[in-house]
Amino acid sequence: MAKKDFYDILGVDRKASAEEIKKAYRKMAIKYHPDKNPDDQEAEAKFKEAAEAYEVLSNPEKRQRYDQFGHAGVGGAAGGRGGFGGGMNMEDIFEQFGDIFGGAFGGGFGGFGGGGRGGKRVFKGSNLRVRVKLNLEEIANGVEKKLRIKRQVPADGVSFKTCPTCNGSGQTFRVTNTILGQMRTSSSCPTCNGLGQTIDKKPSDADEYGMVRKEETVSIKIPAGVVDGMQLKMSGKGNAGPMGGVNGDLIVVIEEQEHEELKRDGNNLHYDLYISFPDAVLGSKVDIPTVNGKARIKVDPGTQSGRILRLRNKGLPSIEGYGTGDILVHVNVWTPKNISNDQKKIFEEMQKDPNFQPQPGRGEKSFFDKVKEMFS
Ligand SMILES: [Zn+2]
Repeated sequence: MAKKDFYDILGVDRKASAEEIKKAYRKMAIKYHPDKNPDDQEAEAKFKEAAEAYEVLSNPEKRQRYDQFGHAGVGGAAGGRGGFGGGMNMEDIFEQFGDIFGGAFGGGFGGFGGGGRGGKRVFKGSNLRVRVKLNLEEIANGVEKKLRIKRQVPADGVSFKTCPTCNGSGQTFRVTNTILGQMRTSSSCPTCNGLGQTIDKKPSDADEYGMVRKEETVSIKIPAGVVDGMQLKMSGKGNAGPMGGVNGDLIVVIEEQEHEELKRDGNNLHYDLYISFPDAVLGSKVDIPTVNGKARIKVDPGTQSGRILRLRNKGLPSIEGYGTGDILVHVNVWTPKNISNDQKKIFEEMQKDPNFQPQPGRGEKSFFDKVKEMFS
């Protein structure tokens, strides 16, 4: 599903001022606040969506990038804390409230964490990308590939302990006195980054999250009919999420190797066939390469150069699983460059013969008709 436009989400004009954006977001945050809409997933989604839009549009630099490049310019919108990607969680949103509601609503809006919503942050491991080269035969039939990948996984022997700063809740609280009374504000624990745990012991080769890179072999079944540049996702096969987090995904990018003789065009394949002049006149049978071997095709007597013959269902299967393309054989008559004197005499005879004079128009399709027919 395409991501919604941030301006549309907040219901503001593209030229809206910072103040207008803030006002619009404040309205939406109150309307869709989870405490006002308990167990309403749609409201929660809208609440998060608005927060994400505000996060970008309230930051002049991010807003400019968004205006210029759209969602791609602000990749992941929330910027992905600690490089582990992902959008905003509830905690980030409530942190943002200090700015919106002048501090009064931070934690005081019924709070966060107490009701079991959110609480500790869970990190998602990052996605991994690998390219896999396939030849036409593999694309036509589908193939199982073994891929060598280097994933980030928890190191052997790493152990965790409850974070001493937040006692495992992932948050720290601050009580401030305001004109409305005492307000409790929560924020992500600075010691554990909201994870609730810190590393107790780890092997020397592990990083700050207790992770190491490990080489693994992953097997993937690639369906028939894939196209160059297509991306297949293997859920959970990316980097492991640190400290009991969720695994990222493995993205497999298809790279198609060109076939020596068959040129791909969607699910159809094109082949340039060269036949001799006598074969064009007398007709013959020729072998055409296909993705799985070869197929014999009949060239009728009197075949014109430029004719397109169709080998039905010898192309590629559609990725959606219905139908198979054809091989379109383009007939070219080969003209010899060097001939003997005897041969020259034969051709000179033919040259004088009116039967060898071109007479197009009688049952011959023009190039344009042929192109039309090809794509019909
Ligand atoms: Zn902590």
